[in-house]
Amino acid sequence: MAHKKLFIPGPVDVRPDVLAAMAVPMFGHRSKDASALQRAISEKLQRVFQTKEQILLSTSSGSGLMEGAIRSFTKERAAVFSVGAFGKRWYEMAVMNGKPADLFEVPQGDPTLPEAVEAALATGKYDTFTITHNETSSGVMNPVGAIAEVRRRYPDVLWLMDAVSSMGGTPIPVDELGVDCCITSSQKALALPPGLAACSVTPRAIERGRTVKERGFYFDMVQLYDFIFKKDFQYPSTPTLSHMTALNLQLDLMLSVGLESYWQRHEENMRLTRQWAAKHFQLLVDEAYASRTVTVVHNTRNLVIGDLNKALGERGYQIANGYGDLKDKTFRIAHMGWRTREELEGLFGHMEEIIGLK
Ligand SMILES: *Cc1c(COP(=O)(O)O)cnc(C)c1O
Repeated sequence: MAHKKLFIPGPVDVRPDVLAAMAVPMFGHRSKDASALQRAISEKLQRVFQTKEQILLSTSSGSGLMEGAIRSFTKERAAVFSVGAFGKRWYEMAVMNGKPADLFEVPQGDPTLPEAVEAALATGKYDTFTITHNETSSGVMNPVGAIAEVRRRYPDVLWLMDAVSSMGGTPIPVDELGVDCCITSSQKALALPPGLAACSVTPRAIERGRTVKERGFYFDMVQLYDFIFKKDFQYPSTPTLSHMTALNLQLDLMLSVGLESYWQRHEENMRLTRQWAAKHFQLLVDEAYASRTVTVVHNTRNLVIGDLNKALGERGYQIANGYGDLKDKTFRIAHMGWRTREELEGLFGHMEEIIGLK
């Protein structure tokens, strides 16, 4: 299988040294080495999440922790704010787990506005609400600072946030915002292979969780949390130690270039991509809500995206079609992880040749 440079919103390309770190010989998951590794990862992830709260790792993709969080922490009713496919997924998870929930939607390309959160929370019907930080189907990054201001008036309502496609790629000050459970996956801006998820969790979320019956087993957030303290950062089931050794190295690399610089790289790549897309097509999302990790472009030239991707594939590149309802109407260019300006310019050059833009 010939490798294609990935400009899709996960999985993204992994550095060869990080990939090689997965090939470490196995060690016991109940060993001191396992505890030390998992403790080190948690401490480094706290810096990425800008939190002092406990970090939990999960051997699953991010959806596992999303399901675990809405199931373990919702007692009465959840308000699910959706700006696209991944927001809706959280609603489906609530329904499938028998959790009462209401879905609040907006037109594609629009954000969740603080006024909508205010109106819902003011009803007093909800003990939990969910926000998608960065909606990968529409390329919207929600105004979480303004949402946090609204939420300060409703401190008893738990805030769960999907930061799967943005954590690491842009600053998300989890504690300052007051998010109770912030979730991410390994295969997006953290630039690891898929299969590992991580979240932060506040003690008040755990206290609520203790009063919730039927939290499930594998994704019981309270059990995961308690185990960390009981067993020195170990996990109830056998975790993906291979991902953990790679994550530990990836975090060292991110911290050694500096988080500011890693975020900045995403910001610059986003600007470059939006500039190029605006010149030849149209952007789906306004500047104010533009995702730092994925740009969604209106297919104003009515290209057959499948054909475009096939031609790109022959040149060793891959972009993403639109997601769900936006398929073929849009295409997506991800700029996550260690991607460079030169690599993006390379992609744009090939696209211009294939489409005949020159
Ligand atoms: C990719 C993605 C998910 C799903 O994550 P998995 O790790 O594939 O389970 C959820 N939310 C957003 C915003 C995503 O981009």
